[in-house]
Parts: sequence; structure tokens; C-alpha cells
Amino acid sequence: MIIPSSPAPIKSAAGAPSRIATDACGCHNLPTMDYFQYKNGELYCEDLPVAKIAAEVGTPLYIYSKATFLHHYRQIATAFAELNPTICYSIKSCGNINICRMLAGEGCGFDVTSGGELYRALQAGGDASKMIFAGVGKSDEEIRMAIDAGIAAFNLESEEEIENVDRVAASMNRQAVGAIRVNPDVDPKTHAKTTTGKKETKFGVDLERAERVFDQYRNLKHLRIAGIHIHIGSPVYEIQPYIDAVNKITALIDRLTQRGHKIEWFDVGGGFGVNYQRPDQAHPITEHAKALVPLLKGKPYRIAFEPGRYIAGNSGVLLTQVLYRKKGGSKQFIIVDAGMNDLIRPTLYESYHHIWPVHPTPDNVPAQRSVETVPNNGEVVDVVGPICESGDYLAKDRLLPHTQRGDLLCVFTAGAYGFSMSSNYNNRRRAAEVLVDGNSYTVIRRRENYEDLVALERV
Ligand SMILES: *Cc1c(COP(=O)(O)O)cnc(C)c1O
Repeated sequence: MIIPSSPAPIKSAAGAPSRIATDACGCHNLPTMDYFQYKNGELYCEDLPVAKIAAEVGTPLYIYSKATFLHHYRQIATAFAELNPTICYSIKSCGNINICRMLAGEGCGFDVTSGGELYRALQAGGDASKMIFAGVGKSDEEIRMAIDAGIAAFNLESEEEIENVDRVAASMNRQAVGAIRVNPDVDPKTHAKTTTGKKETKFGVDLERAERVFDQYRNLKHLRIAGIHIHIGSPVYEIQPYIDAVNKITALIDRLTQRGHKIEWFDVGGGFGVNYQRPDQAHPITEHAKALVPLLKGKPYRIAFEPGRYIAGNSGVLLTQVLYRKKGGSKQFIIVDAGMNDLIRPTLYESYHHIWPVHPTPDNVPAQRSVETVPNNGEVVDVVGPICESGDYLAKDRLLPHTQRGDLLCVFTAGAYGFSMSSNYNNRRRAAEVLVDGNSYTVIRRRENYEDLVALERV
């Protein structure tokens, strides 16, 4: 056993994690379950009106719900409990150290893709023996840092990288441990920019080449290759690509075992979709588990998962304020104070994020968040940011309730790849991040100030 498992949550009598069992919603099997709900006509995060937080901390603002984070993490741990897996939270999805610390406290490991993410995971108190380092371009410095920290394993992406990790480990007189990232050649049917498990991507080693690679590097002195890693893409809305990939890999492991290789773990990756558009868009993790557990149960190797979005996606929102209304030809623009530097997913992936007013008129308080929700007195608008790019938008041709200067809008499902992909473009200060716990909140990242923007340039 190389990688210690993540403990399955302690169950309450009702079979749900204890914090959740007390929740009035009672919908712990639904991936849509989150603690951003309209109460008394306005949007709350857990027991706090989000407008109150915005009034105190300002906008644009990322607000996260602690209960939602824990709920989703525990939902995965519970669903796959039979496999006793190691769950390595993909830190790139939402890496605030306070959030990482909270997950580490649950027994969660980390999937890191850079020295910076490794540093973050360690600063958050993460257990290095549950950390996996992925990515096609690890530098020698990063490899040294990870070996020094004592991480569980490198996910290795190419022959040259394998040779280099062996070389760096030798220079330190240490033994590194690794898994080969195998490209199972399945189509996850997601956006081209986030498809990673087809042959024509830069990720992993082709399935046909995998055995040769294992044979070739069987006797390295400073790198023991004993695992297999896959990650097919993200977000994935079908179960079949996972089934196909797992079947291909378990067969590969059988072939490798026959050739005398001892495979100690299989890291199935992440990519599980979440509900951006409608409450039933993504499969609950329980359905993934129902399909995958029988394929993996009783295998003589450990199982790991690397979920990011499934844990973070619906655990965070971006609050933004309407600055101006403006006409442009036939278009109605709503100009808001959050831009593509705060949330780049619509620009980069043409992603849909549900947007709705924090204080809708009483006839527009939504029963659920859905792309099909038709507002009363609605209008078709482009919600755009202040940045000097025509690609700077949060929504295009969107039917929304009428809004005006000063209104607060909530951009939902922004917890994953939201703040973590934000930048200072146009010299905008990056947003603050707030973590809500019940009826209190903590600013877990202060809003950047102007001096932050120039501090590193003072020579
Ligand atoms: C990004 C990534 C993940 C996480 O993907 P999610 O969609 O956030 O679950 C997991 N593994 C690898 C290798 C990744 O690159």
C-alpha cells in the first residue's frame, strides 16, 4: 500500500454525513444540493443573506459555502466507500488554503500540478503521503520539491519525463514513486479545450505504448513505477466514457501483471460534471459509483480519484454589481463590475453560468436554477465586464429579469475554475474570497489593493 486511503465519513443513523442529515433540504443524494438558496425573497448562502456580505466586503466577490464543500466531498467518499479510495482534491479547481485545510481535515489528499499548488497543499496542512503530482511539464525544481516533501507519487506523462524524474531523484540520492498516465482514447464529449483522454491530446502515454513503457522502465534505480493514472476530461456528463476507460485500464493492468509488473494503484482521475444549466444536468456521484464500483471492487490494487469541480463547482458563487445599462445596435448590455479576469470560463470555454438577481422581484424568485427558467418582465441581455476585450462577457443573449444600476447579480456554480483562473488583466485587483459557515463568514482572501499590483516591480 503506497497511498493511504481517505477515510469514509462517519455516517449518521440515517446514512448521511452528520452535518447534512440535519439539513431541511433532505436531498443529499442530489448533486444539485447546495447552500445557495432564495429565502424570504433574497439569496442566502447557508444562513446569511449574500447582500449583507457584499455590503461589508464589496464586489466582485467570491462566496463559498463550507457546508456545500463538505457535503460534496463526503458524498464522493461515501459513494465509493466500498473501494476505500484515496481522494485527491484537484487543487487547481479552487485552491484557497483555508478551503484546502478544511478538506485536509476530512482526510482528503491533493492532486497538484505545480510547485505552487504543492506549496499550497503543504501550507494547508495536507498529508504529503496523499499527494499526487500531475502535469506534462514538471520542472527539475518542482520534481526536487515534491521528492523532498515525500509525496505519494508522480503521475508521469512521457518517456522523457520518466527519465528525468529518475535522474533528479538520483541526484538527491532518493527513490521516487510514479504512475504512468495512460491515455485510454475515449471521448468524454466535452469541450475540445478540456478533452484530455483522446489520443490527439498532449496528455499521457497511448494505451498501445503503455506496456512497452512499463517494460522499458522496469529497472530504474531511483524511480519505481507502480501505478496507472487516467483523467479523461472535464466536465464529463456521461458515465459510459468512465466505464470504457476503466475497462480498458483494468484489462491493461491484467496484461501488465502477466508480464510481471506489480501495479499497486489505479488513479481514475476526476472530471465529474456538475449542474451549470439545470438541476438534473449531471449524474450524482452515486450513479458513477454504481457503475464503477463493481468494475473495481476486489482488485488487488488501490483506487484513487481526483475530483475538483464536483467538490468546488456548486460550492461557490461570484457576486457582481450592475454598473450600467447600455444599448448597442439591437443588443441590450448589462455592464457589471466582474469581468473575464474574475471568471474566464465563459470566454475560454463558452461556458454557461446561471445568473440571477440577488433580490429578484417577488414574481421572479426562482424555485430552481435552470436555463429554462423564464422570468416575468424579462429581457434578453449580454452581461459584460469592464475589460477592454469584446470577449469579456459572463453571459450572452441571456433572458434575465430586468436589472438596473446598483443591482446585485449572482453568477452561480463559480466555485471551480473561477477564482483560481482569475488574473490581474487590465490591472484589476483580484476579488476577495469569503467562506460562509452557518450564520458567520470569514474573509479567506482579502481583496487585492493597488500596491499589491505594483509591489513586485519596485526595484
Ligand atoms: C483538472 C484535473 C482534474 C480535476 O478535474 P475536475 O473536472 O475539476 O474534476 C483531475 N485530474 C487531472 C489530471 C486534472 O488535470
